[in-house]
Amino acid sequence: MATDALPDYAPVPADAFGPAVNESGYFVGRVRGDLYWVTDSFYQAMFLTTTDGVVVVDAPPTIGRNLLRAIEEVTRARQRPAHVTHLIYSHSHADHIGAASIFDRRVTRIAHARTKGLLKVARDPNRPVPNVTFEDSYTLRVGGERMQLSYHGPNHSPDNIFIRVPSAQTLMVVDVIFPGWAPFQNLAESQDIPAWIAAHDTVLATPWHTLIGGHLGRLGTRADVLLQRDYVQELVASTQAVIGALDPTPFFVKYGATGNAWAIFKAYLDAAAGQAAAPVIAKYTGRLAAADVFTTSNAAALVNSTRIDAGNLGPFGTHR
Ligand SMILES: [Zn+2]
Repeated sequence: MATDALPDYAPVPADAFGPAVNESGYFVGRVRGDLYWVTDSFYQAMFLTTTDGVVVVDAPPTIGRNLLRAIEEVTRARQRPAHVTHLIYSHSHADHIGAASIFDRRVTRIAHARTKGLLKVARDPNRPVPNVTFEDSYTLRVGGERMQLSYHGPNHSPDNIFIRVPSAQTLMVVDVIFPGWAPFQNLAESQDIPAWIAAHDTVLATPWHTLIGGHLGRLGTRADVLLQRDYVQELVASTQAVIGALDPTPFFVKYGATGNAWAIFKAYLDAAAGQAAAPVIAKYTGRLAAADVFTTSNAAALVNSTRIDAGNLGPFGTHR
């Protein structure tokens, strides 16, 4: 495809970017205390150095073996054991744990019970099934350090967990908050949109100072969560207003005559998403990176969720 056929987008605000990656394509930095984070500017993982070895959370394939290099680099500088004792999966998705097989078979793999179920079905050799699972919460203690895992129900995926390192005042929760950026398309491709929206409040109700969102190139703050929550709430309000007001007549007139039921739906839903997104794009461009890239698909996800989850069927819900 010719480059000039591709769309242009608004510039990315400077504060959406994180630190530069090195010549190998990664950045590793200390969050606080014994906790470190690794990014390739698209994905993120974190690891905790302890006196008994290293605890890693997630293994995104885009970072791949650079995760091992980052661990080696930090543990050598800290003069701490470099071997990985535990690997925690935030959730089952391959884009976040698809490099899990680069770790030794003897590593203890910890995840939610639902993650185990999903990985058993996936049968992916790159995502070994966890050997320790939990339902509600799990406390991991290694070499004087503590990691607190908890499950608050489905959100982005049915198995997504919260991972807290109290000594570093850090929370890692993946595919929910995108610090500095609009959420990825279709509200982070979330399977349960109302629960994903509610997760913003669960994140805010959890004590932490630094957030690791699993994506992009920088760490998150509580202000980032508040800003994203505002963006989502305004998109919800805009979507509900459009569904209540958009006249379906032209769509029925144009496509009803030929009996193309799906064309009526698609044209109406696309128009609703476009109209719902417009004021939010205008408001958030320059405040959230790529607001002009993904807000229309995020609105489309909300149009659909408003219909099927909230029961607001608009012109397609008339009782006769
Ligand atoms: Zn995911």
